[in-house]
Amino acid sequence: MSDSKLKKIRRQKFCAEHPCCYFCGRVRLETTWDHVPPKACFPQGYAPEGFEFPACKECNKGADREDQIFGFYSMLLDFDESKMSRQDHIERLLDLRKGIINNYPDALPDLATAHALFHEVGSILSPAAIALDTNPAFKKASKIMGQKLTHALYLRETRRILTADHRFRCMWYQPQQAGTEALTAYFSSLFPNKTVGNRPNIKPYGDRFGYLSGFKEEEDFFMYAAQFGHGLILWGSVCGPSTEMPEAGPLAPALWSTGLCGPGASATTPRTPIGGNAHGEKICGRLPTAPSL
Ligand SMILES: [Zn+2]
Repeated sequence: MSDSKLKKIRRQKFCAEHPCCYFCGRVRLETTWDHVPPKACFPQGYAPEGFEFPACKECNKGADREDQIFGFYSMLLDFDESKMSRQDHIERLLDLRKGIINNYPDALPDLATAHALFHEVGSILSPAAIALDTNPAFKKASKIMGQKLTHALYLRETRRILTADHRFRCMWYQPQQAGTEALTAYFSSLFPNKTVGNRPNIKPYGDRFGYLSGFKEEEDFFMYAAQFGHGLILWGSVCGPSTEMPEAGPLAPALWSTGLCGPGASATTPRTPIGGNAHGEKICGRLPTAPSL
């Protein structure tokens, strides 16, 4: 049997066993496959395999704007000279830029407020990157992308879908920014598992996306740091329903979000009837099969 037929059968089986959306937990009326990271983070045809997650239509479509904006900035900030000379990289970047100009012109970099980062990556002559702290469109897109990525990587690594009783946090930084080296080194020393997103059967594309992660099964505690090219790192952590959290300080529960926050969460379809949570809602339970979709 061909690989694509096998893939199709695996997907059908997975969908039948797991009728809920990875991002909102509701029963999917129609199954769509959400690419996380979005395809906009890669040149055409280079999105890594194995990063598609079963989503309801509302969750998949609900973040189109953020997918495009985040993809554009993640490509723009990939300061790897070997890629900058590649035609497919440049074409993709120009394409994305055209899409942003046409659809979301407010999301273009604001040159009046942008400031350059000259630092750790070794350039003394030209900016290593544009600082993104002041760009509201990017800030919103990265927030949504952090939510999606946290749900997606938790599912990929633990075979479980987050529940409405899980709490998570996600943040981002630019590795060119002064003072972030310690954080990057900390992640590298802390996490046991490294995954590089690639796509077999096509020529390699370098370090476009990969992540480090670790999961403590007993405490249901998950952490990851994901890198997009050389310009952006998103990192996050997830605490299970019974994980003890400090009452105050930087890890205070008030600063965390609740799982299953995708746009479809406001839809009226019920969550899948597997297991249950403290609020009496039905939620998705443990996934017994590997998400090799
Ligand atoms: Zn959903």
